[in-house]
Amino acid sequence: MYSKTEFQDSSFIDDAEILGSLEEAKKLAKNHGAVRAILDKARECGGLTHREAAVLLEIDDPQLEHELYALAKEIKERIYGRRIVLFAPLYVANHCVNGCVYCGFHAGNAAMCRKKLTMEEIDREADAILALGHKRIAMEAGEDPVNIPLDYIIECMKRVYAYKNSRGDSIRRINVNIAATTVEEYRRLKAAEIGTFILFQETFHRPTYAKMHPKGPKSNYDWHTTALFRAQEGGIDDVGTGVLYGLYDYKYETVAQLLFAESMEKACGVGPHTISVPRLREAEGVDMKKFPYMPTDEQFLRIIAVIRVATPYTGMILSTRETPETRRRALDLGISQVSAGSCTGIGGYHKEIGQPEQPDTAQFKVSDERTPDEVLTWLCEDGYIPSYCTACYRQGRTGDRFMSLAKSGQIRNICQPNALLTFKEYLIGYGSDHLKELGERVIAGEVEKIPSDKIKELTKERLHKLENGAQD
Ligand code: SAM
Ligand code: SF4
Repeated sequence: MYSKTEFQDSSFIDDAEILGSLEEAKKLAKNHGAVRAILDKARECGGLTHREAAVLLEIDDPQLEHELYALAKEIKERIYGRRIVLFAPLYVANHCVNGCVYCGFHAGNAAMCRKKLTMEEIDREADAILALGHKRIAMEAGEDPVNIPLDYIIECMKRVYAYKNSRGDSIRRINVNIAATTVEEYRRLKAAEIGTFILFQETFHRPTYAKMHPKGPKSNYDWHTTALFRAQEGGIDDVGTGVLYGLYDYKYETVAQLLFAESMEKACGVGPHTISVPRLREAEGVDMKKFPYMPTDEQFLRIIAVIRVATPYTGMILSTRETPETRRRALDLGISQVSAGSCTGIGGYHKEIGQPEQPDTAQFKVSDERTPDEVLTWLCEDGYIPSYCTACYRQGRTGDRFMSLAKSGQIRNICQPNALLTFKEYLIGYGSDHLKELGERVIAGEVEKIPSDKIKELTKERLHKLENGAQD
């Protein structure tokens, strides 16, 4: 294992290595035997190197592509079963000193109405998010040390955790997606009971990074690229990464993303807890003609399948940036967490009846505008089990403890019953009549599939207790 302090700079993202991998992959992808050997290795669920994954990005034979997709589906089901974890973003402030050319919050966007939630507004947002049935949020903010210092983010976290709605429900896990910071500040986030610290790399390609981030602290590639290592050094053992697809060539970015994950595992003993796959969306004050690298839907699904087979134990997150149809196909190929009912503006969940429409504060436009109840109905109809489980986090199963459980196959045994119990809680508290009927049928069928008789009986007992008013 490397010492963490070796990662003071980001030279481990080696441009020549990435380009070399893609060059070699073009040749190997034509050799069906070589491709099938990689697929066979992936089937063991031990993961793939970035070089092997590069080959899977390059295959263009339809039969091999079919085999890759079937394998992605098989691996996903083996490790995660049919459960899908749900969450919602909570945007608390949109001030920003950076110039990210793709983002509606960039400092030069004078038309953007800047807003920062008060603690009373945080309560109202928490209440509205709970009313949608959520228990897990991703707290989001722009970067502005004066208007949005870390003290403010921590105050928001404490306020959200402390809020209880009229049913006695509260948000149980807060993941945080804010700018790169110091080890000291990561320690403070850890002390404030952060779930996962999420930071998207945006692009690993240095010249593109420089073009996309012309001003502000985020323009420092080394500082940004090493942030998740500092987060781990600060005691946050669940960290989430992601490329913003559309900024540069998707094959380069995916190979670099996997190289990043490998480097993190070597340095910290555990790789990223989650990989998100955001794809660029239209945003106020952003000129979409500046982005010629947008992957097509087919390319986007290939990316998801390749990441799934290359990092089988890493959660994969897909947001409402994608349409319902793309989300449906992506779930099959590897996604384990989705957002639902999302609002990317500041204070957008709570709606005052009779109040005039507020000025637009949204970071970008979402493509899936369905309510969580509609998303859950769709998940059930497609054979998935919606899950609001946060048990791993609450019981300290994070970082390498989570990974070793996942690798032993135990997560599936623990997760499936928990998914059923938390879905039941949703139905009781927030489900529509239609979903209640459908959901009860799903739960009844899935309980019977629990292999251990002991766990099956325990789950039935707990479901019964929930019906009688108990809480998880
Ligand atoms: N401001 C922090 C940062 O940039 O790291 C926190 C995250 S920002 C609120 C959330 C993420 O939204 C960014 O990391 C970026 O990848 C993504 N994003 C920005 N503009 C976008 C757009 N137009 N379409 C889709 N995603 C976008
Ligand atoms: Fe600010 Fe983040 Fe948007 Fe960049 S992506 S402009 S840092 S909010």
